[in-house]
Amino acid sequence: MIGDIKNTAMQDDEYWMAAALAEAANAGRAGEVPVGAVLVRAGVMLAGAGNSPIALHDPTAHAEILALRAAGARVGNYRLKDCVLYVTLEPCAMCAVALVHARVARLVFGAADPRAGAAGSVFTLTDEARFNHRVAVTGGVLATECQVLLRDFFRARRADGGSDCGLA
Ligand SMILES: [Zn+2]
Repeated sequence: MIGDIKNTAMQDDEYWMAAALAEAANAGRAGEVPVGAVLVRAGVMLAGAGNSPIALHDPTAHAEILALRAAGARVGNYRLKDCVLYVTLEPCAMCAVALVHARVARLVFGAADPRAGAAGSVFTLTDEARFNHRVAVTGGVLATECQVLLRDFFRARRADGGSDCGLA
């Protein structure tokens, strides 16, 4: 029985990560670094977004921030309690702290970011005793798919003569 429950939870994580991957792929097609996020509460997707700093001329327009903003506007509350954020790449420091501000219950990410990840890789801001909220973290969900999307994007960009910005 416990095994069944775990299995269902894992399938849910993969289901929502696939939705985040679709947002990431859209971002990549728009020329943005392909990272996507969806925010879910009680099995309902409140918001989804792709990374968009170039299009929005906004250095804070990471997928996680856009999803938090859209979900907050939708539910009419800046506190997003009992929500789970799914994102294809481990959040940066800005986004990890935004999750703390929003009181998001849980973060699920795909690929780890060994250069800038703030949910355990470089910083652990999701579980920082000096903050007044901690976010439960599960990493590595559909990690290969998430990594391949980023790798292919940067490979194609290098082939075009562009340079990467330090991610992936
Ligand atoms: Zn970020």
